[in-house]
Amino acid sequence: MESNVQFLTFIALLVCVPVANGWGIDGHLIICRIAQPRLSEAAADAVSQLLPDFAGGDLGSVCSWADRVKFRYHWSSALHYIDTPDDLCTYQYNRDCKDEDGIQDRCVAGAIKNYTNQLLSYRDHDAASQYNLTEALLFLSHFMGDIHQPLHVGFTSDRGGNTIDVHWYTRKAVLHHIWDDNIIETAEERFYDSSVDELVDTLQKNITSVWSNQAKAWAACTTTACPDAYASEGIKAACDWAYKGVSEGSVLEDEYFLSRKRVVNLRLAQGGVRLAATLNRIFG
Ligand SMILES: [Zn+2]
Repeated sequence: MESNVQFLTFIALLVCVPVANGWGIDGHLIICRIAQPRLSEAAADAVSQLLPDFAGGDLGSVCSWADRVKFRYHWSSALHYIDTPDDLCTYQYNRDCKDEDGIQDRCVAGAIKNYTNQLLSYRDHDAASQYNLTEALLFLSHFMGDIHQPLHVGFTSDRGGNTIDVHWYTRKAVLHHIWDDNIIETAEERFYDSSVDELVDTLQKNITSVWSNQAKAWAACTTTACPDAYASEGIKAACDWAYKGVSEGSVLEDEYFLSRKRVVNLRLAQGGVRLAATLNRIFG
């Protein structure tokens, strides 16, 4: 009996370990589902060669892989976010892209640059052999999502909203989690028949209609990958929308949800368009 209780406690601890996730599973799925049909023939071919067999050709099914391996690949946990100075609402690569030990390039923008460079070796057999390009693809696809979650480019002292306790309607949550999961989940329940596919369809339609001009600008990048621009947008959105009007103990409900869900939809769409554009540039 006692060992049973210990076992259950152990399981409960496993379930409750606080993690600074990226978007939740749906956010990453949405971004990769938007990206995959936008791939050029060459990029689609490379992606299907690199995807692990268990993905069944579906990039969306492996876009949360990087969150699942955080504990096994302990070094990778600093690569999911960027801490910027409190209240400045700006981002600079040289100043901010480092981990807690101050090691440069260890942040989500640095990781996007690194995995982009690794994937550029795809057609060069000798260069490619030093990397695991399957993992590089899964990391890049995930981090392109994370950098579009506004609180993944947040303030240092509250760890991107992870230490700000609020209520989402009647439930307790931390602000970071509201942006990873709750806004998307509540939107799906209320407007999309609880279906992530319907949300993806709506965003796809918007990208080719109301957002079609903007979407061309989202995809533009004069080098192969442009994470610094996305991070700068991210901290601005964090200040203008995520942190705005929120303090410890705030109750966030319709007023917050209805005004922020369009920001979440926009960031998901941008993440998908840009992931596709980056893969298209990488694989030519
Ligand atoms: Zn992540």
